Amino acid sequence: MDNPLLATDRLPAFHAIEPAHVEPAIDTVLAENRATLERLLADGGPYTWEGLVAPVEAMNERLMRVFSPVSHLNSVMDSEALRAAYNACLPRLSAYDTELRQNTALYEAYRAVAERDDFAALPAERRAAVEHALRDFRLAGVALAPQAKRRYAEIASRLSELSARFQEQLLDATGAWHRDLTDTGALAGLPESALGVARQAAEQAGVSGYRLTLEFPSVQAVLTHADDRALRREVYEAFTTRASEVGPHAGQFDNGPVMDEILALRHEQAQLLGFDNYAELALEPRMARSVDEVMGFLEDLARRSVPRAREEFAELESFARERDGLERLEAWDATYYSEKLRQARFGLSPEDLRPWFPASRVMEGLFKVVERLYGLHITPGGDGVETWHPDVGFHEIRDADGGLVGQFYTDLYARAHKRGGAWMDVCRSRNALADAVQVPVAYLTCNFTPPVGGAEALLTHDEVQTLFHEFGHGLHHMLTRVGVPSVAGISGVPWDAVELPSQFMENWTWEREALDAFARHHETGEPLPESLFGRMRAARTFQSAMQMVRQLEFSLFDMRLHAEYDPDTGARVQAVLDEVRGQVAVMRPPAFNRFANGFAHIFAGGYAAGYYSYKWAEVLSADAFSRFEEEGLFSQEAGGAFRHWILERGGSEDFMTLYRGFRGREPSIEALLRHSGLAA
Ligand code: ZN
Repeated sequence: MDNPLLATDRLPAFHAIEPAHVEPAIDTVLAENRATLERLLADGGPYTWEGLVAPVEAMNERLMRVFSPVSHLNSVMDSEALRAAYNACLPRLSAYDTELRQNTALYEAYRAVAERDDFAALPAERRAAVEHALRDFRLAGVALAPQAKRRYAEIASRLSELSARFQEQLLDATGAWHRDLTDTGALAGLPESALGVARQAAEQAGVSGYRLTLEFPSVQAVLTHADDRALRREVYEAFTTRASEVGPHAGQFDNGPVMDEILALRHEQAQLLGFDNYAELALEPRMARSVDEVMGFLEDLARRSVPRAREEFAELESFARERDGLERLEAWDATYYSEKLRQARFGLSPEDLRPWFPASRVMEGLFKVVERLYGLHITPGGDGVETWHPDVGFHEIRDADGGLVGQFYTDLYARAHKRGGAWMDVCRSRNALADAVQVPVAYLTCNFTPPVGGAEALLTHDEVQTLFHEFGHGLHHMLTRVGVPSVAGISGVPWDAVELPSQFMENWTWEREALDAFARHHETGEPLPESLFGRMRAARTFQSAMQMVRQLEFSLFDMRLHAEYDPDTGARVQAVLDEVRGQVAVMRPPAFNRFANGFAHIFAGGYAAGYYSYKWAEVLSADAFSRFEEEGLFSQEAGGAFRHWILERGGSEDFMTLYRGFRGREPSIEALLRHSGLAA
């Protein structure tokens, strides 16, 4: 069979990829890789970088290249057939991965490479690749007794199935609910942009009127703008009970048992390796050194922000009481009244900014900012490059001398069968191990409010920030100079440092000098008026302490869930969440709220015992940006240094060393507190 997934010498042929190609392609590559490995280890050494590590890197990179379009399509073009094919591959991939990491002969061979006299003379990226691999061998149980080793492998395989199940049930629960309305009466308060989306959703479903869904833009529009309190409650309840044993689809897609099993297995896995709990295991490859250090970090931020957050909440309560005589501010009221309070105080609604952020101009502006900072050129690229949907764009990044640096796909708008949220994913990594250097390619995915009726999409400032954020991840992946795939780009970067380049980029969406490059009225072309800009800046720290404690709530919940697991009592998911809320939350959600059942970050993504990374990296990103506050927003020197020390180096060196190289000192928390309006 002519399998397009195996044609890895060019970009994925998305039109040609069928679900039926998936399993044969993966089986072929896995069989080839196993044969390669056997051949590499056949003569028992002596082992060298070129003879062992380079070919292992190459074969793993090829596997990633074959599977990446599959997992990407599974996220953005979900279908029953593709889902089945994808799921059929997961246990095979997990088994292969475990087999590789638990391969004693391979482990010994890597050790032999690391113990060679000439090892220290290898370039840093090669040494890092070997050292990371040795660590990963140990964390996969290579040194365990045979029975424990087998159990570890079983757990790894089961965990990959459970994560996929968690994500599917969440997606199915999200898709299962909708509310059709025939007239706008019940939708009073919703802006035209949201009504348009609801109208379009109804049209696509073949019904008349308006359809509300649980896709994020729809939920957010109702909770922020709908005057009808009962409607807000209904949507809030449907959204916060997704995939649980309560709510409109109670028990139908319940992630409760999935979470319990995931947490039990993670704990068992950690214990097999000699750790007290999963949080300790997860912290091994991170910047943070211990659970205590992370908890101390989070609790320090809580001490600094909870009192201010309580004040902000009290303001909100009294505002709602005065405005509408609300006796009790409920969870489904908070966003709505926050929006009204913001308008009253700053005369500014996120909707007011949309006309100045037409999507195409924002993209151009983002490119201009990046071009100026790093001396690059970004152009629409790739004649004949295939995509998976008409909305998808493709661009190329070139260096000052015209050399191709990276390429990326953009898929910006929410639609059915597309996973919610925004993310950057790897299509292929930089690889300089072969004769020709393989250029890195990224997928940038967002879920913005889609354009309605042929008009251009107008973004909120939040959406603009999200785009800059994901592009920051993209730059980290695409500007890398590292040529060893396992430590190139975002690979091999400690998880708690990964959000540095992304959060860093968001800063440029708040600066006049940058905004002038792209914030133009979609009809008149006028720049963002000074009064509007002033109000936007003034509102930046609006309720920032409340936002901070919300992030701390998620972080503390995640860390405690993994650090305190006790087999005798089970996971106690809701109990731990309630305790954490008692400690830091300013608003207690209703008893039916099942936030954890939709917390895909830690149950289906890579953030287990790692949600704190957002705040951890925010300290780094705010501190990094403060160098630009000191030296100029478009300082060539600071931009060049950031590119050189952070964006180009991937996981090839100790991250703190790289950071010090850029900043000339260790990071300080001062800039984050100042940007959040929490400085003493
Ligand atoms: Zn991110």
